[in-house]
Formats: sequence, structure tokens, C-alpha cells
Amino acid sequence: MRPAARARRAYHRPIVPALRVAQIVADTEAEGPGHRYAVWVQGCSIRCAGCCNPQMFDAAGGEEMAPASLAAAAHAAGVEGVTLLGGEPFEQPEACAELAEAARALGLGVMVFSGYELAALEARAAREPEVAALLAATDLLVDGPFDRARPERARRWIGSSNQRMHFLSARYAEGAPCFTAPNTVEIRLRRTELSINGWPSASARLERRR
Ligand code: SF4
Repeated sequence: MRPAARARRAYHRPIVPALRVAQIVADTEAEGPGHRYAVWVQGCSIRCAGCCNPQMFDAAGGEEMAPASLAAAAHAAGVEGVTLLGGEPFEQPEACAELAEAARALGLGVMVFSGYELAALEARAAREPEVAALLAATDLLVDGPFDRARPERARRWIGSSNQRMHFLSARYAEGAPCFTAPNTVEIRLRRTELSINGWPSASARLERRR
């Protein structure tokens, strides 16, 4: 049995912390396969140079939300799955695991973007059951820090060429057409608030011009 699986079996979560959330887009086609409920979590200590979301670095920012209610909202939105990005999901592993598990239980897929590499997350999972739980509830993981010297030019949704896609379940298949379709950017204006998401390098350029 893999260490992560061992840790997960022994893990019980009596009190679930709230998730600190920076931004939500309830239905996007620019953050993973199909229509997705995207949750940008607040807080990231990795702080890659050129990150397009520096406003999400501060772990004390954002708004606290209940993971189960986010999963229910995603289900109500009628999407294919949930995408967790940020910010760094594995710096709030317990709440993110709760959200991912609840989403899975409602039939939704789970995609996670992390600045940590999978090997490091698996090492943490051996001693942190909440990290093991989040990995176990993830269908597709994109790992590694953003490297602005190596912008990704071919793969959809990926910021830099060092980042890898890990298909951790059979839910998504690497050869599916959605992975080779052109990147897209979505721009939304709600009242006075402008949000931009999608293709990382284009989003970063647009954010700088706001
Ligand atoms: S890991 Fe992601 S959110 Fe964190 S600094 Fe790097 S690009 Fe930004």
C-alpha cells in the first residue's frame, strides 16, 4: 500500500476548517476540461516571480467559506467539475480535501493546480493525512512552480513548460481533444468588478494593463 493510502485510511476529520477563498468563477471553460467551478484559494508562500495572482499571496486575505457549501454550489452550477487553484491549495489541504471529497461525492471531477511538485506532495502525504486526502480526491494535478523563463507554448491551461500534468484517476485522459484545443481567456465585468481568467500568460498581461 502506498504511504498516502495508508495515511488516508487512518484519517478522520472531526472539525473541518473554513477555506480562505480569493475568487470564484461558477462556470468557466478556461480552467480545465469542460465547464468548471473554479475556486482560487487565498495564500501562497511559494511566490514565483511573475505569478499572475500576487494579490492571493497573503494567507490572511480573502474570505472564509465552508468547503461543503462550495461543493454544493458547484453541483448546482451544473458543471463537469471543480478546479482548485490560487493561491496554493496544498497550503490549505484539510479544507481543500473536504471540498474535493464533497465534489467527488456529488459526481464532479477535481482538478488541482499546485506550485509544489508531486514527489514533494507525496512525501508530505506520508506524514500529513490531509495532504494524502487531497491527493486521493484529485483526478488531475498540475504541479510545479511557475517559471517565467519557460513559458508554455503548446499545452492548454499550463503556465510554464516545467509544470506537469498528472492523471491521478481515470476520469480524464491525456489524449482527449480538450487538452490540445487552443487556450482561451475569459473576461467578466460584474458591476464595478473586472475578473480575468484562463490562459496564464495572456491573463497576466491583461492583469498588468488593468
Ligand atoms: S505557486 Fe502559483 S499562486 Fe503561488 S506564486 Fe507560484 S504561480 Fe503564484
